[in-house]
Amino acid sequence: MLKVHRLKLRLSNAYVLVGRRPILVDTGTSHDSYAIRAALKKLRIELSELALIVHTHIHSDHMGSTTELASEAKCPIAYHAADQGIIDQGHNGPLNGIGIQGKILSRLFQNAKLDRIQADVTLVDGMRLDEFGCDAVVLETPGHTAGSVSLITPAGDAIIGDVIMGGYLGGWLFPSKPNYHYFAEDLAQAMCSLDAILARTSRTLYVGHGDPLAHLDVQRWRKRSQAT
Ligand SMILES: [Zn+2]
Repeated sequence: MLKVHRLKLRLSNAYVLVGRRPILVDTGTSHDSYAIRAALKKLRIELSELALIVHTHIHSDHMGSTTELASEAKCPIAYHAADQGIIDQGHNGPLNGIGIQGKILSRLFQNAKLDRIQADVTLVDGMRLDEFGCDAVVLETPGHTAGSVSLITPAGDAIIGDVIMGGYLGGWLFPSKPNYHYFAEDLAQAMCSLDAILARTSRTLYVGHGDPLAHLDVQRWRKRSQAT
């Protein structure tokens, strides 16, 4: 049975999936490596036990501590090739802001610098992670970025990165309410990706910002957002 542990970091969530071996999904900002180490310790997992570091997508608040953690963990790094361009440009931007808050925040975040990490494992649609001791399957879910992916678990949960988020003000207010993320390269595509996630899951969607979202709440929110 695959267990999902949420690591609540200062700006975003990372996750540890524990199956036959543990994998880390996302690494927060460059200031989060200490918090991730502490959380792993609490779970009695050594950094060196990690089988893989997977990225839901490439943005500074989801891969900021990868270089530091991976050098010690000595495990492979995985992301989708369609986000390679973001790494190559060396910073997040340009970010397409959704709504007024998104437009303001995009100015703040688009210049955030990125480490030039390299993928040892390239994620593709339908890829199983069992060779890393994890029964999750990769689902391509582009829209927030072109290379955004979700991980679908056998129990019907998913780790969905920034396809949508929980709550308002970065997840501080009503964190378990589904909401649009602040940025999307292509919002219509992100919503198609959300539909694909909903079709393959039945329980909990674990987001990059905010609390875990109930499948039914997301389904209702999606129907309402289509009606308006
Ligand atoms: Zn993002």
